[in-house]
Amino acid sequence: MTGRTMRPIRETIPIGQALALVLEAATPITRTEPVPLDQAHGRVLAESVLAAADVPPFERGAMDGFAVRADDTSGATREVARTLRCVGSIFTGMIPSIAVARGECVAIATGAPMPDGADAVVMVEDTDRIGDEVRVFAPVHPRQNVGRQGADLAAGDTVLQAGSVITPSRLGALAAAGIAEPLVFARPAVAILSTGDEIVEPGRPLGPGQIYDVNGHTLSAIVRMHGGVPIPLPRAPDAMEALMQAVAEAAESADLIVFSGGSSVGERDLILDVMRAAGEVIFHGISVKPGKPTALARIHSRPALGMPGNPTSCLSNGYLLLAPMLRRMARLPEHRPHVLRLRLARRILSTTGRHQFYTVQVADGSAVPVFKSSGDITSMSQADGYIEIPAQTASVEAGEMVEVVLF
Ligand code: AMP
Ligand code: MG
Repeated sequence: MTGRTMRPIRETIPIGQALALVLEAATPITRTEPVPLDQAHGRVLAESVLAAADVPPFERGAMDGFAVRADDTSGATREVARTLRCVGSIFTGMIPSIAVARGECVAIATGAPMPDGADAVVMVEDTDRIGDEVRVFAPVHPRQNVGRQGADLAAGDTVLQAGSVITPSRLGALAAAGIAEPLVFARPAVAILSTGDEIVEPGRPLGPGQIYDVNGHTLSAIVRMHGGVPIPLPRAPDAMEALMQAVAEAAESADLIVFSGGSSVGERDLILDVMRAAGEVIFHGISVKPGKPTALARIHSRPALGMPGNPTSCLSNGYLLLAPMLRRMARLPEHRPHVLRLRLARRILSTTGRHQFYTVQVADGSAVPVFKSSGDITSMSQADGYIEIPAQTASVEAGEMVEVVLF
């Protein structure tokens, strides 16, 4: 590696353009897989689901009370009760064998099949039972307190459209329709490769000059949050052969490769060389702070993101670029973060020429700046969100209204 020198990033692109290119490189997943219902939450349905049968599959009582002929209750009041003869009981899960004739009723539980002859249910609160005699104090009209067969879903109805994200309620609809294993789109597999001779996995002792791997973990979390499956690869040293080998491995199993570290302009920053050797670079350098030394490439027909090693830069790009890219690949709808309009608690000086994402904490109804430096993860971990400061703005004054985008 002799003769390698620093190669400054001469041309950067605006963040908007970087995002557009990243989205363009993101291909929605076409692989599908059946998943057990209890693991389907948050997944994206790959085919429309139709109801194979009526839900509910039979006419049922919708109240605990007495199944009656509505006619028999007309004019009933507390003072002038109608008296019916109770000829049996029907509980849930039973096949009713008793029919209700004129002047009769049957005790029925909520959810039990309606007996023949009855067309309404009087709720138990409107009755008084002594032995077989049931006094009814209020009239019911036909179908009152009766759940119609197919009222929820009729056979052939669309339960859910293809492309729906399975929320708890949609999971419930699938369950009601008897679907045990919905077909969903596979989650994008994301190879995560933390590079750097100095990087050590938390839990091991640190040697001189070493630090713990932060980015492998923050990136994995972002991947999980936005519908992907992280595949952490063993950390790679800053050496061309090792990196090329890791990339070849990543390309086999992953839909997207994310590198951290080595994306800048130092002598041992080799990610750009790896990208050039194994594929083609789409961009390198974004006029944004933090996160300038970021690259996008295509390697073995897969997109590859080269993230800066500085933990805040890396994670900031995780939110701004990786998350939207993944959501497109996973076929999830665009993430819409919450935005608060607050007063800035302290003046912020900003670098001109780069669009800045400045982290803030929400405290006492105002936005308190907490950004320290791109190298400090606490710039992010102590923040609730960020404000954007356009490239040409040199300062934002205390007391100014700012829009805080919450993480
Ligand atoms: P680089 O992008 O490789 O030039 O690294 C920039 C800075 O980020 C250096 O101080 C690295 O030690 C640090 N760094 C690189 N990778 C990681 C990582 N995975 N976790 C924490 N810090 C890192
Ligand atoms: Mg490095």
